[in-house]
Amino acid sequence: MIQSTMMEYPLTLTHLLGRAGTYFKKMEIVSRMPDRSLHRYTYADFTRRAWQLAEALQKAGLQPGDRVATLMWNHYAHLEAYFGIPVAGGVLHTLNLRLAPDDIAYISNHAEDRFLIVDDILLPLLEKFRDKAPFERVFVVPLTGAAIYPYTSSYESYEELLKTADGSFVAPQLKETDAAAMCYTSGTTGRPKGVVYSHRALVLHTLVQSMPDVLNISMHDTVTPVVPLFHANGWGFAFAATTVGAKQVYPGPYLDAQSLLDLFAEEGVNCTAGVPTIWLGIAQALEHNPGRWDVSGLRMAVGGAAIPEGLMRTLESYGATVQHAWGMTETSPLATASFLKAGMEDLSVDEQYKRKAMQGVAVPFVEMRIVRDGVEAPWDGETMGEIQVRGPWITMAYHNLEGSTSSFSDDGWLCTGDIGVIDEEGYMKITDRVKDLIKSGGEWISSVDLENALMGHPAVAEAAVVAVPDPKWQERPLAAVVVKPGCEVTEDELREHLAGSFPNWYLPDHVVFIDEIPRTSTGKFMKAKLRDEFRDIQVQQ
Ligand code: AMP
Repeated sequence: MIQSTMMEYPLTLTHLLGRAGTYFKKMEIVSRMPDRSLHRYTYADFTRRAWQLAEALQKAGLQPGDRVATLMWNHYAHLEAYFGIPVAGGVLHTLNLRLAPDDIAYISNHAEDRFLIVDDILLPLLEKFRDKAPFERVFVVPLTGAAIYPYTSSYESYEELLKTADGSFVAPQLKETDAAAMCYTSGTTGRPKGVVYSHRALVLHTLVQSMPDVLNISMHDTVTPVVPLFHANGWGFAFAATTVGAKQVYPGPYLDAQSLLDLFAEEGVNCTAGVPTIWLGIAQALEHNPGRWDVSGLRMAVGGAAIPEGLMRTLESYGATVQHAWGMTETSPLATASFLKAGMEDLSVDEQYKRKAMQGVAVPFVEMRIVRDGVEAPWDGETMGEIQVRGPWITMAYHNLEGSTSSFSDDGWLCTGDIGVIDEEGYMKITDRVKDLIKSGGEWISSVDLENALMGHPAVAEAAVVAVPDPKWQERPLAAVVVKPGCEVTEDELREHLAGSFPNWYLPDHVVFIDEIPRTSTGKFMKAKLRDEFRDIQVQQ
């Protein structure tokens, strides 16, 4: 039996931080501050401060595996925490600042967070749950420079914490399987669940994410994660950008379309990532201000919810490129990415968009299958089933949660709760969440397909399709539609618009016009709310 002669070398974030500080010293990191000014420093500053944070946390008594929570917008100090906490042997736990205070308190208790790093401008939010949260010490990042401690003298300054480091830090010898970070699912129903990422998972995710034909991230890019760093590891962009040494530009608390477009223009951003709502806002801003911003060459990664093909076409008509990807908190998050395979350039434009709007093929090391009624379904592009995945950055359990086995198959795959189809080329398309599927007389109706088609109508800004109870068919689709300002459209016109692409039984029985679609903290349609609101519509009519 021959033995490999390779070294055993752990895949850790410690290596990536060290390398960034060695080779990319002069590269810049720019952050929008609360007063809208731009904070700038270099990788030399960032890596020095990240090591200082690691040392200071150890001096503060951090033990291996201790959780350090962050309650922060996207900016340089959050990036320092992204690396400083894990390289000290701690676990970076990003808290979602859009959740209700009681939910944040629940999550921080469930995770048993020891320390918290918080933006000064988020202290009013912290105050709402401080007495219920477990933090031993709270370090405040002084973003505004204003008097920051009107609240309680128990808060400490993040900058003072860094000063306790004297450069004597010796990085702990971490195993690649050690925990580095954790995130909680956004929990559209039920309590949020915690996922714990190892160094190895995050390193491998970083390498694959940066590959050409995946998200193709290089040091020649200028990268802006619009996706919050607290949403599923900020989709890995901070790790990937640091690894390749790219200029990083963070939007701070300003996520409106105008602020983002200004930032992209001022700093030369060409690679960004966010949920479809963000890009919808950007498309509208571009439409209403012709010629004001130039987005040609901008690569926009989109995930978290399906991007309608129409929105993709609109954004690309301005010269941007949209990269559709799918994943979840449980998958670190990247699991699939959509791109055209060699030779597909010859397809018609419509065919190309059909593919690009799909969620794509599994990235290297992620295996994917669809399961229907307990058996694997064919890859014929038609048979819907639950998407299941496995791989080195896919979770196999939830943190401290017994009895959550229904999320995992007996043979060890993650049951994602997403319904989809896979075609002969291996392209996956999400058609629904299991709980959002519309079951009409034994057939499954894809709410996502109907939504995309509705959003392709020129008068429709947004549309969500949900199931409402039906005495004959069990469930029937209802479309909740937001009309574009200044446009008009009738129920019949929308049905007619759909009739060309769907069989009759697919068409929504009800179309209601609403002002806006309710959304979760991470930008997904809150369909449970719509279902509740319209569940009696059948009876009312
Ligand atoms: P989260 O854990 O908050 O990232 O949510 C993960 C869920 O978001 C997935 O299970 C999907 O239901 C949905 N999702 C993520 N990316 C996409 C996408 N590209 N298209 C459709 N749904 C998506």
